[in-house]
Amino acid sequence: MRVVTTVQEMDDEHPGWASSLDVGFVPTMGYLHEGHLSLVRQARVENKVLVVSIFVNPTQFGPHEDLGTYPRDLSRDLRLLEESGVDVVFTPTPEEIYPPGFVTYVEPTGPLAGQAEGASRPGQFRGVATVVLKLFQIVRPHQVYFGQKDAQQVAVISRMVTDFNLPVKLRILPTIREADGLAMSSRNAYLIREDRTAARVLYRALQAGRMAFEAHAGEEPSEVTRTMTDTVLAEPRARLDYAEVRDPNSFMPLETLRAPALLVIAAKVGSARLIDNFLFRADGSWDTGRTVSEEEGGNNYAGESDSTRYTGPKVWA
Ligand code: AMP
Repeated sequence: MRVVTTVQEMDDEHPGWASSLDVGFVPTMGYLHEGHLSLVRQARVENKVLVVSIFVNPTQFGPHEDLGTYPRDLSRDLRLLEESGVDVVFTPTPEEIYPPGFVTYVEPTGPLAGQAEGASRPGQFRGVATVVLKLFQIVRPHQVYFGQKDAQQVAVISRMVTDFNLPVKLRILPTIREADGLAMSSRNAYLIREDRTAARVLYRALQAGRMAFEAHAGEEPSEVTRTMTDTVLAEPRARLDYAEVRDPNSFMPLETLRAPALLVIAAKVGSARLIDNFLFRADGSWDTGRTVSEEEGGNNYAGESDSTRYTGPKVWA
């Protein structure tokens, strides 16, 4: 495995790949967990060359957010990636990506970028779209892997790929959860013990929302949002940001409960701001993610009725 830190070094990698139309790429902000590694493993199987980036992108953090304290452990990350058979890890400095004189940004517009996460964290998707486009240009991948965990990021990037005719195929893989349902996230490291227990409320709220969705299909979504909201409000350590039912592609709020739909939730628990979602696919099946079974640890995802129904990664190309 080679670890490179400059755009020039990444460029120097390309001649060796010239014959390969099979470059996979997993962009991350590091502090890797099973969610990231599920993407890396799938990408390893599906590509001849596999590149992973680790870059805590300053432009997607707001002025009062956690850029300075975002958890980092590069040596552990590199060990995990080496064990996963990654070919190249790109770990640029902020100056390498945003050198002096940098002025051009990708600005997603409309409800897709301005509502839900876009409303709570203004500028986040401008930063995400900008860095992802830059990383695509530097790495030049054919297939890129993202997690359904960040559903709005998936929708923004899918839209950017379409809008800019980018020659990449997106592979969107399910959310990986702890055994108790909490979606894995680097930010879970912020949770003290009591908050870690309380953080399960997001998953419980989504489960309750799903039941209400099924009971009220075809109706307007108020029962679903009420159920999700009430579940979170009953947990004193959680502060709800939003609990909504949206279209997974446009991110417009749904007027009636139909497929496809996305149950999205965001809440602060202690100092961690957590997001999660359940996807009700166009074919009427649910993607609620996959749970790491306690005994197996690491590599096995099991347990959920929906994960056993899961028959392979979803492709949004
Ligand atoms: P991050 O390092 O948080 O920017 O995440 C890098 C990639 O990993 C993104 O595509 C995320 O959606 C994905 N990811 C993060 N957490 C999970 C998870 N629990 N399950 C699946 N994918 C995830």
